[in-house]
Amino acid sequence: MGRAATTSEGLNWLTLSVIVLFHVGALAALFLFSWQRLVVMAVLYVLAINVGIGMCYHRLLTHRGYHVPKWLEYVMSICATTSLEGGPIFWVSTHRVHHQLSDQEGDPHTPREGGWWAHAGWILFGAALHAQTAVLARYSPDLSRDRFHVWLSKYHWLPITVCGLLLFAGGWLWGGLVNGIAMVLWGVLLRVTLGLHATWLVNSATHLWGSRRFETRDGSRNNWWVALLTGGEGWHNNHHAHPVSARHGLAWYEIDPNFWGIWLLAKIGLARKIQVAKFDKENPKPAGA
Ligand SMILES: [Zn+2]
Ligand SMILES: [Zn+2]
Repeated sequence: MGRAATTSEGLNWLTLSVIVLFHVGALAALFLFSWQRLVVMAVLYVLAINVGIGMCYHRLLTHRGYHVPKWLEYVMSICATTSLEGGPIFWVSTHRVHHQLSDQEGDPHTPREGGWWAHAGWILFGAALHAQTAVLARYSPDLSRDRFHVWLSKYHWLPITVCGLLLFAGGWLWGGLVNGIAMVLWGVLLRVTLGLHATWLVNSATHLWGSRRFETRDGSRNNWWVALLTGGEGWHNNHHAHPVSARHGLAWYEIDPNFWGIWLLAKIGLARKIQVAKFDKENPKPAGA
């Protein structure tokens, strides 16, 4: 699953076309600014990237850092698919491989094979993973046993399509055809493009730039600006040292909005068994590392 194994598959033209289309749409959106569209984009961004990717795909499904009722896990997973980062089985398996082989042979996205490779190249050339359902399933036996996650992994493009259609219809009814188109450009194309880069920065930038609190075996770093863009996922050295911890920001100044979301779920009785790493300033080495 490293670069050597995947480049032989060649460039994934479908993925490349979709990504180019979304970038062009994102640029077009900038010419159609309105405050209402910005708010719609911001709300959908939080649902897709914070609630979906950070809180659900990453901290809940991949690492099981806390528990929620099944119905909520499914709703949050649907939110995650609207980021266009694939279905739960693909995302979770890829990320589990990353933790198993971080910055070694077989890591799907290590900057040791190039910063751009880790950022987006692995998606464009390594996308053969999408089709390797059997290989992926080995890394997510828990999800592969769940009929809803299997279904959502197959139809992960459906929620974002419905989202786009609703934005188009709602925008058109509210303010005419151009508004309908502009709503789709802001609520889907620009939002997805920004979200993809924010997530990809966790794979590229936080394995390149930032500080290292823990001497982990990989090159992970704590990067404050990636943490700001992703709701706390940038405290990546903390995370590699304590992968199961639902909390990534371990010091008071390491702001971690995705954990605030989990904390909020606990307050209203929806999240339990929350794993939180204890950070000892005197002895910063993680247990077992
Ligand atoms: Zn990492
Ligand atoms: Zn992780």
